[in-house]
Amino acid sequence: LNTYVGFDTITQQIEKKLLKRGFQFNVMVVGQSGLGKSTLVNTIFASHLIDTKARLEADEVVRQTTEIENVSHFIEENGVRLKLNIVDTPGYGDQVNNDACWEPLIKYIKDQHSAYLRKELTAVRDKYIQDTRIHCCLFFIAPTGHSLKPLDIVVLKKLSQVVNVVPVIAKSDSLTLEERQAFKERIKAELHFHEIRLYPYESEEDDEQEMALNESIRDLIPFAVVGSERNVVIDGRPVRGRKNRWGVVNVENENHCEFVHLRNFLTRTHLQDLIETTADIHYEAFRSKQLLALKE
Ligand code: GDP
Ligand code: MG
Repeated sequence: LNTYVGFDTITQQIEKKLLKRGFQFNVMVVGQSGLGKSTLVNTIFASHLIDTKARLEADEVVRQTTEIENVSHFIEENGVRLKLNIVDTPGYGDQVNNDACWEPLIKYIKDQHSAYLRKELTAVRDKYIQDTRIHCCLFFIAPTGHSLKPLDIVVLKKLSQVVNVVPVIAKSDSLTLEERQAFKERIKAELHFHEIRLYPYESEEDDEQEMALNESIRDLIPFAVVGSERNVVIDGRPVRGRKNRWGVVNVENENHCEFVHLRNFLTRTHLQDLIETTADIHYEAFRSKQLLALKE
């Protein structure tokens, strides 16, 4: 007796539909200029997504306002198309007076939620709403080796209430491994002390495997990263790396930095979950607040 009806092909049916539509991933980078934001994004996605040189020249003039730039890139791997939006926030925290420097960032994030909600509420809804909501905010911490700056704490607190924030220790090649570990522990303690709740959040739906994975991610955060757009030759093989007076930092070597962990996390293990969490937690909080306000 053959009882097979074939509904197990639903996963292939879904896959086909999704592949046709493609995926969209929106990342915001936040941090002082010169911390290697553009470089890191280029290193992760392995192409010249943001022009670092243009930025360097512009850096000579300190910008008066936070100007938010949105650059889209289409990347494809094995037939899977990803539209990657990088929202760059140059000049953040560079002013003498940084009061409220986070406001344009928060406003940008909320504006995307608001635009999405408006589209959802229109009578004739698009079949597929263009998603500009920020799925991940990479927060760059200066590699001082001391502690977070008071401004970092304020901004992390504000951002973490509206978006998935992933802090990284920028340019970690400037710290020794001991310094780096001590810095990381101090940052963790500060985040805990200031009750800054970061992604990945605890979820009852997670199975044991997911819980273990998220635990290892929480342990790694903030990722100590090194970025480079240049190749250096190690053992006759070109690798992404930086040459300094003492030797070569191989960006992809896990003994040198945690770049590979961050890239795996962003692209291989948590891409879909970052998108889902944005919709289910951050957007949902925004949406219910807006709708409640409408009722009153
Ligand atoms: P942004 O202003 O934050 O976007 O910084 P950029 O990506 O433009 O980088 C500023 C400068 O720092 C450039 O000269 C980069 O080559 C350099 N840089 C970027 N990442 C690293 C890193 O991980 N380590 C070191 N030592 N230098 C870096
Ligand atoms: Mg930049």
